[in-house]
Amino acid sequence: MSLIVQKFGGTSVADTEKIRAAARKAIRAQKAGHQVVMVVSAMGKNTDTLLDLASQISDEPPAREMDMLLSTGEQVSVALVAMAIHSMGSQAVSLTGGQIGLKTDNSFSKARIQSIDTGRIERLLDAGNIVVAAGFQGIDDDLNITTLGRGGSDTTAVALAAVLGADACEINTDVDGVYTTDPRLLAEARRVDVISYDEMLELASLGAGVMHSRSIEFAKKFEVPIHVRSSFSDQDGTMIVAQPESETAPVSGAALTRDEARVTVLGVPDVPGMSQKIFSAIAAQKVAVDMVVQNVGTSGKADVSFTVAGGELKKTLAALEGILDSLGADGVTHDDQVSKVSVVGLGMAHQKAVAASMFRALAEANVNIHMITTSEIKISCLVPRDQANQALRAVHEAFSLDQRPSDAKTWNEIKASNAKEADVADVVTRLQNDALEALTLTDISIVPAQARVTLDGVPDQVGVAADMFEQIGEAGIFVDMIVQGYDGEDGSTSVSFTVEEADLDAAEKVARAICDKHSMRDVRGASGITKLSVSGIGLRSHTQVGTVLFEQLASAGINVEMIATSELQVNVVIQSDQAGDAAARLKQAFAEALN
Ligand code: ADP
Ligand code: ASP
Ligand code: MG
Repeated sequence: MSLIVQKFGGTSVADTEKIRAAARKAIRAQKAGHQVVMVVSAMGKNTDTLLDLASQISDEPPAREMDMLLSTGEQVSVALVAMAIHSMGSQAVSLTGGQIGLKTDNSFSKARIQSIDTGRIERLLDAGNIVVAAGFQGIDDDLNITTLGRGGSDTTAVALAAVLGADACEINTDVDGVYTTDPRLLAEARRVDVISYDEMLELASLGAGVMHSRSIEFAKKFEVPIHVRSSFSDQDGTMIVAQPESETAPVSGAALTRDEARVTVLGVPDVPGMSQKIFSAIAAQKVAVDMVVQNVGTSGKADVSFTVAGGELKKTLAALEGILDSLGADGVTHDDQVSKVSVVGLGMAHQKAVAASMFRALAEANVNIHMITTSEIKISCLVPRDQANQALRAVHEAFSLDQRPSDAKTWNEIKASNAKEADVADVVTRLQNDALEALTLTDISIVPAQARVTLDGVPDQVGVAADMFEQIGEAGIFVDMIVQGYDGEDGSTSVSFTVEEADLDAAEKVARAICDKHSMRDVRGASGITKLSVSGIGLRSHTQVGTVLFEQLASAGINVEMIATSELQVNVVIQSDQAGDAAARLKQAFAEALN
């Protein structure tokens, strides 16, 4: 008998009428011959209401009590859904996280799933019940109630689908699928039939709120196909699977994180170990750092800029306050009026000038870019918040995201041509370990013979990045990493990018011409560098990857010249003569996570 997991989000159970509709949907699936596990979120904005109540009592409520409070939202809805099913003459049993044996670690408000005991659910299903499980919650070893983080019911649903070996995992929500960008922000956004795990993971982590990013980590790791669809109709929505919709489109989606903050630590002595000090102090607060850019100045001092979620700025500044003296840095500046616009696409990994097109689109929309970071399948630009929507629209249009790519495939077409079925035995072995959400790394590798070009004193003005990377593209040079950040002096920025060593002379020549044209301060080229990449799943949410990496390199006296992070890779640029040592150390440090 086939088993399906149906998740219903907050808006899909916002009132009793919607609860009845969700119940009917589950009963229909059961009558069609499936065993049905529902995963349900708190009703409507109930979680926000509970958060607000807590904030009226205390500025810093104990994390344990917060989770105790927030978990009640889901408990209300599962009971009501089960009652609705009973009232329609079918059988249902509601269960809390603890009752489905969903064990987590003890990091309240961001708990990670360790194991799920399927016995009780299976017995209830076999007895003919619809099982209604509370999303978003679990219990730790001491039976404390924990929660998985906002939007975490998606992760509960995908995790249950994985451990139960479900035939389908449906995410029923208030949109009819995944769009090229948030349809509430851009009316011209297009619903896609298919999106790959890698793209969805990046988009979710870059602001596409439709899925909790950790649910996609799960789905990718355990090969669970996800069907995102409307709660309010029976139309097919979007399949999130291993394959992309199009093999050729450079970009498949765009996302906006409106509420970002930039932090710059000024005048950090440029010796190994400084980044490690900064980022471990922040990681200790469980704050995820994004867009990291380090500009090495000529005076032996560096400025380290990064972004954090706006709501975590206060914590971040406090953490830095504590270490400024021991760092020997000059000070900290920040800007809390910035937003991050990103584009994501598997296709960009093999195409030139995708970044240049994004920069040109922003320039034409008169949007100034404060910071840039790129990695293999995403490009992010930090822009003024009051231009965020304009910026999103500009890049969406530049990559024609409103049009279906001519080689786009539907899920049925992909499925038909997909000979390789998921390796069931392999999935089962992986499920037997006791750490479902543990860090999974796939590779630690190096790309030698790289070179870096740095432009200093780049005017912080509209159109400069577009000009620069268009000309480099026209010279036929393939650019790999690009970072732009504050260079501390007179409000200008500094831009570094990497190319193949063989292209260094040509790239420097173009850079020099651009430097003269825009009256920049200087161009510096360096060869003999190597890109070291740690690849895996969910690397940004597992903040320890950055911490361990920095610790290992610092303790070996290895200086990190550039860094770029994504959900799939953490890349650092180091001197080539240290690359072998660095890779060996990381392989050892991450031995347990490498499989
Ligand atoms: P639920 O309560 O069902 O979990 P969410 O509010 O978490 O629903 O997610 C659905 C919302 O995600 C949509 O209403 C939409 O505004 C937003 N969203 C953001 N990015 C996207 C996207 N790329 N595609 C579809 N929806 C998106
Ligand atoms: N109720 C929780 C939230 O609002 C979890 C969820 O809906 O996924 O974040
Ligand atoms: Mg959600």
